[in-house]
Amino acid sequence: MCSIIIMARKMLIDGKLGNPNGEEIHYDFDLFVIGAGSGGVRASRFSAQYGAKVGICELPFHPISSEVIGGVGGTCVIRGCVPKKILVYGASFGPELQDARSYGWELNERIDFDWKKLLQKKTEEIVRLTGIYKRLLANAGVKLFEGEGRVVGPNEVEVVQLDGTKISYSAKNILIATGSRAQRVAIPGQELAITSDEALSLEELPKRAVVFGAGYIAVEFASIWRGMGATVDLFFRKELPLRGFDDEMRAVVARNLEGRGIKLHPTTNLTELVRTENGIKVCTDHGEELMADVVLFATGRAPNTKRLNLEAVGVELDKIGAVKVDEYSRTNLPTVWAIGDVTNRMNLTPVALMEGSCFAKTVFGGEPTKPDHTNVPCAVFCIPPLSVVGLSEEQAIEQANGDILVFTSTFNAMKNTISGRQEKTFMKLVVDAETDKVLGASMCGPDAPEIMQGIAIALKCGATKAQFDSTVGIHPSAAEEFVTMRSITRRIAAGKPKTNL
Ligand code: NDP
Repeated sequence: MCSIIIMARKMLIDGKLGNPNGEEIHYDFDLFVIGAGSGGVRASRFSAQYGAKVGICELPFHPISSEVIGGVGGTCVIRGCVPKKILVYGASFGPELQDARSYGWELNERIDFDWKKLLQKKTEEIVRLTGIYKRLLANAGVKLFEGEGRVVGPNEVEVVQLDGTKISYSAKNILIATGSRAQRVAIPGQELAITSDEALSLEELPKRAVVFGAGYIAVEFASIWRGMGATVDLFFRKELPLRGFDDEMRAVVARNLEGRGIKLHPTTNLTELVRTENGIKVCTDHGEELMADVVLFATGRAPNTKRLNLEAVGVELDKIGAVKVDEYSRTNLPTVWAIGDVTNRMNLTPVALMEGSCFAKTVFGGEPTKPDHTNVPCAVFCIPPLSVVGLSEEQAIEQANGDILVFTSTFNAMKNTISGRQEKTFMKLVVDAETDKVLGASMCGPDAPEIMQGIAIALKCGATKAQFDSTVGIHPSAAEEFVTMRSITRRIAAGKPKTNL
């Protein structure tokens, strides 16, 4: 490419860069951030507020990402949490309308769902948000560059602009915040499948959807499409969806997905996709064949490091390409740092925000601060949602020195008593028998994420089961069950398999 290389390093006011005489070195920026997603924007704004001179680069905006397309706001805002939640809201109205009939609503006229209208609203919203993020950066005095960034030295970043022009900047510190990218499974016909990027921007709502994988994205999209009326087949290689979550909660989610009409295909792999006149033929390792309008690969995401030139400058990556960092988010090169999904620690937006804040405090706030990855609450926005904080029962058993007490509550949400919907809410508390400390809480049911945020504060404060019990409930609510679970469902003796009381 005939790009002009401009060495736009505004060489030191006094020309002392790299001065071998030990004089102070001046840089274009105190901090240069590659990637303006949630973590990068947070780190750069907070660093600027501490008085740092900050530059940040990000790829141009588009709802569907590629190696050369991204957008200020990053995955969460443009093609992740935000548009996904908009679609979850959209999908939830269908079942709500059904339930409304039992509450006396006569829905006599034909009710249609206009996918294109929702999609347009979704796109308008993410365009609005990307604008807000840009303003946040500008108001904080952070200089934004549109282009692809790469690290060319311990204190040097190169930005390839839209017209191919390359400009390099010196920086005292470099922060990698480039997130992650959806992965495809290598089977014949894999190019016929889409990832969550495209799923959030489909021209047409599929009538027949196949989802491969059973993590967050898989169960969320299965719920979205089912809620909008599609037939959904969910294929995954384990017995239950959502590996890593509490086993009992995983079974509850599986039951709910089936209850909402999603067909589950556990312990099944897709082997081939074939384009036909009637759609995409999906073949499995159980010899099944079915036709689909859309096949979504929700089979995990990989850290976005391929084009950053990191290994060439000596930054260590792990075997899946994630940037290796210490507890302060520093790489093996003292001037290079990394936060968020690109480090593959705990791939959640609020965690990237925390890591960004801690980075700014450590490097520019004069207060070394480690991000705390314990008791991080999270939610899977399947319908109804699952939300958890702290240890699962399995983790508690594995980590505990003594006995574990498990309290559970399963009940028909009050709303269902009138609507007749057959779907139980399930809650669980995992408690250390000796200290009475609540080690973990989980809930699957309406409003679980809204409830769990408050429970997370209690766990962060080290709350005991006795303190939960002495808290007065809010009646009538589902949340009050968390403070009224009096009888032990089971006690698991240290080192023993679990037994039902
Ligand atoms: P997850 O890591 O959650 O799940 C990946 C799924 O893909 C698993 O079911 C896994 O199966 C399956 N899988 C992986 N490789 C293969 C393969 N070769 N063949 C078949 N199946 C395979 O990834 P997601 O893509 O769902 O989400 C990515 C990340 O994004 C998550 O880690 C999460 O942190 C974040 N996220 C968070 C959300 C939220 O907070 N609500 C929403 C969406 C994403 P197996 O279990 O058998 O390994």
